[in-house]
Amino acid sequence: MPVDEALTALRIDGERFRADFEALAGIGATGDGGVHRPALSEPHLEARAWFRERVTAAGLRFHTDGAGNHSAVLACGPAGAPTLLLGSHLDSVPYGGRFDGPLGVLAALEALRMVQEAGVSLSVHLEAIDFTDEEGTLFGELGSTALAGTLTAEALRESRGGRATLEAGLARAGLTEAGLLTARRDPASLAGYLELHIEQGPRLADAQVDIGVVTGIVGMASYRLAFVGRADHAGTTSMADRRDAGLGASAFALAAREVVIDDFPGCVANVGDMRFAPGAFNIIPAQVALALEFRAPEPALFRRLEEVLMERARAEAQRFGLGLEVERLGWLDPAPMSKVAQRAFVEAADALGLRHVSLFSGAGHDAQSLASLCPVGMIFVPSVGGASHSPREFTRWADCVNGANVLLQAALRMAIDGARP
Ligand SMILES: [Zn+2]
Repeated sequence: MPVDEALTALRIDGERFRADFEALAGIGATGDGGVHRPALSEPHLEARAWFRERVTAAGLRFHTDGAGNHSAVLACGPAGAPTLLLGSHLDSVPYGGRFDGPLGVLAALEALRMVQEAGVSLSVHLEAIDFTDEEGTLFGELGSTALAGTLTAEALRESRGGRATLEAGLARAGLTEAGLLTARRDPASLAGYLELHIEQGPRLADAQVDIGVVTGIVGMASYRLAFVGRADHAGTTSMADRRDAGLGASAFALAAREVVIDDFPGCVANVGDMRFAPGAFNIIPAQVALALEFRAPEPALFRRLEEVLMERARAEAQRFGLGLEVERLGWLDPAPMSKVAQRAFVEAADALGLRHVSLFSGAGHDAQSLASLCPVGMIFVPSVGGASHSPREFTRWADCVNGANVLLQAALRMAIDGARP
């Protein structure tokens, strides 16, 4: 991938980038280094208004869509050329950190400003995008699934934050459910999507590596399982005669761990909640509703894990004389990152003299939703101590600048050579 010499010398403006980062970290600040900006809450809308102001102040075109995604657009390609998206999200988990999301949005904005100031023409247009509700306060990866066209009216009815939260959030932001479904983009209009993010784990920091080039994002499934037995007197029913839903659910939780450890390398399973009903000292549990999530790095393994876990749930239910009800609540396929994007990141890191390693993401990101739409790529920068979704989240500023420069240089490589694999 040969790159124009003037462009290989381009670096982001570290001071402007830092001033933006610190101004943004002050919106919804919790006073302990963290921020509280759940999607479409007042502080989140304030952060978005601030971003919009920065976009117009830079002389870039501001764009928003039916899902409330906010963008800066730089028309630096020929008429009718596709757009290369760069971005992340400005929302946070409740009482989260200040790096998760904003780093990628501000690096994207800074990349557009540098290309604009250099006055160069590329083969694509550039767009720095802030996706709505990546963290799933209302609905996980809301803005990016809307843009990818995979968001459905049915899925919105089961929004994981609950209907009332979704409706209130949309109303605050002046959005509608019908509008959400209009945000879909034509794949032909996009050259790709690149995202800079903090690692949210300790691997890069421990290995003292500057950049992690993501090879793929884990698939995630969530299920509600109900083990159904019979309520009886806990004192007068013999141990042999009980149909105890608590035993089936507990046996399944232990079995899920064993199955993954023994037969599914690289996968994880989590039983995050069990609700006992009626739930009393002296009544044998009639029903237990169990929240199961599992993740796998590749499609065949993911489906096999699903099969084996469901078989095990049925077997444990049978063993304790129970019924079993199964409800699938969420399914996101594992998403491989584009080879072209990975190569652009590797070449950019090499050119900048940065150490890099390829790694897999066990956490979900907007890049995952977009993988069905266009070539996507992602890099991580080191998280000190691996902390994330916490005010303790911290990335050294030099690492933030490195990440932004790799993003800029990888975008230029894709913008010059054309992103289609
Ligand atoms: Zn994030």
